[in-house]
Amino acid sequence: MTLISSLSDRYPHLGFDDRPLAASCDDGWLGIIHAFLGDADKAMAAGGTFMLQQVKEKMGGLSMYYAAADIAPDARRAIDDAHRLASARSFHVCEICGRRGRLNNFNGLWKVVCDAHNGGEFGKGIPFVGPFEAHDTYSPEADPFVAARPTATEFDAAPVIEGWLIEEQAEVGRRPWLYGWFFGRPDLGDGEHGHTSPIVQIDEMVPPRWVRTDSGLYRLGIHYPPAEREIRYWAQKQTRRPVVCGEPPGGSNDIDAMLISLRSSGGLRWTKIERMEGAYRAEQESA
Ligand SMILES: [Zn+2]
Repeated sequence: MTLISSLSDRYPHLGFDDRPLAASCDDGWLGIIHAFLGDADKAMAAGGTFMLQQVKEKMGGLSMYYAAADIAPDARRAIDDAHRLASARSFHVCEICGRRGRLNNFNGLWKVVCDAHNGGEFGKGIPFVGPFEAHDTYSPEADPFVAARPTATEFDAAPVIEGWLIEEQAEVGRRPWLYGWFFGRPDLGDGEHGHTSPIVQIDEMVPPRWVRTDSGLYRLGIHYPPAEREIRYWAQKQTRRPVVCGEPPGGSNDIDAMLISLRSSGGLRWTKIERMEGAYRAEQESA
């Protein structure tokens, strides 16, 4: 798994030791694992120790093994409940990509996959027709964490945001939104710049491939570091036309040429261009 080694940085109260976590499942369940650790982290706020020992796929679903010591009974109950929820969720989330999935039998091998990942290396699966006895009180439709995930079909039909950026200066109490150049959005011409409605949920993969907002689902295209993106934004604006499909915002990947063009046009204040260039050089050095 790609992110599992960073878990200890993200959940400092959980007392991971230094050895690598034994994980044997695909990355599509990372979001589920993060949500579980977030709950465990909250439950541990009153003290005690918690150690996630193993993460694995077992009979098609997610199983985690952990040890907790010196914690209050209600904290332990909260962690066990969070683990049950994580396991129930895993039966509806594609283990490979994190989109909506269902449990399938591939010649005796159980695996939760989306439509796009059914028919791959394991062949065509036979869908499991419930009910899940162990999870019969769990409804994926009533769980926003799962319900907001796109199916493979919905994902394929969704508009695309190229050069997307999450707005960082969100006011307190307001959910952030995304900026970008849109393609396939009915209310906006292709290649026009705009922003989405507030974010409901974003894919946990790095980089994320989709975002659910109040007004709908978007696929996420290319992402640029913020300073590079700002230069591309002004260079594109200078052309007075939308981004052409398949072309990068700003017209090319030559950022230096964009800076020269912005300076020579006189359309922006010199100090603004200096600031953007400084931030861009710093971004390049740290990359
Ligand atoms: Zn999938």
